[in-house]
Amino acid sequence: MIPANAATNEGPLKEVASIHQAPPAHWVGDGFYVQSLFSYADAFKGADPFVLLDFAAERYFAPNSGAPHGVGQHPHKGFETVTIAYQGEVSHRDSSGGGGTIQTGDVQWMTAGRGIVHEEFHSREFGRRGGPFEMVQLWVNLPAKDKLTPAAYQAISKEQIPVLALPDNKGSVRLIAGTCQGHKGPAKTFTEMNVWDVQLAPDAAAIFDLPASHNLTLAVLRGQAGINGEKAAVPRVSLVRFQPGGERLHLQAGPEGATILLLSGVPLNEPVVGYGPFVMNSMAEIRQAFSEYEKGEFGTIR
Ligand code: MN
Repeated sequence: MIPANAATNEGPLKEVASIHQAPPAHWVGDGFYVQSLFSYADAFKGADPFVLLDFAAERYFAPNSGAPHGVGQHPHKGFETVTIAYQGEVSHRDSSGGGGTIQTGDVQWMTAGRGIVHEEFHSREFGRRGGPFEMVQLWVNLPAKDKLTPAAYQAISKEQIPVLALPDNKGSVRLIAGTCQGHKGPAKTFTEMNVWDVQLAPDAAAIFDLPASHNLTLAVLRGQAGINGEKAAVPRVSLVRFQPGGERLHLQAGPEGATILLLSGVPLNEPVVGYGPFVMNSMAEIRQAFSEYEKGEFGTIR
């Protein structure tokens, strides 16, 4: 097999730690029917610096002339939320003045930092039109020294995201954050990480080089995947956890191909205390976040 990202590396593989099928879906507001692949509450800490992943598998929404479906105002503090629209449109407004609509293929990268209030809805146009809706929400932790950074919002359009072809028409990598094949993704991040939307053609196989310093987590969102020479037996929707270390990854798709979200990054190795919409380093900081929110210190949506 030809290495997918110009690998010359013959180093050790990144070894699978465990494979988990996603639990049944639950509603977030009335717009997002998500399966939780992992969260800060898990005992396994090997996804660090990523702290939560929810996937809303494809679901048809009928045209709706009333208010858009979604989640009303709520706070966040201490991390970043990354929304990837696989199908459909999400509109967002926040107390830092950020806002906008992301469409199919676009990504919203919101830094909650020292505190934000936001709302997340299907776009008005999508609501009226109806159609298939499919998205990911990923939470990226901030290092302790940056948890109080001002809130910010990056709207990343589909056109800004490099689509890197794998050799021999085996598929592609949409490079949202990090580096691949010498290219750089558009997302600005506080620490070193890769967020790759990997598409593999039916029965295709590819090899990727990844730094030994990166933790690795995969989410198989569509199709089936095989890891490190195994047959393509990991079904959608599944999470694949890896041991630390290793420098290479073999991926193989099943007969329907595969859509895999690849998350790798240098771990923060700091205490993670999450509670509801806040991810801090201690319970005292969580209590402080609640108190600041109740006092209105995260601002209001205008
Ligand atoms: Mn939110």
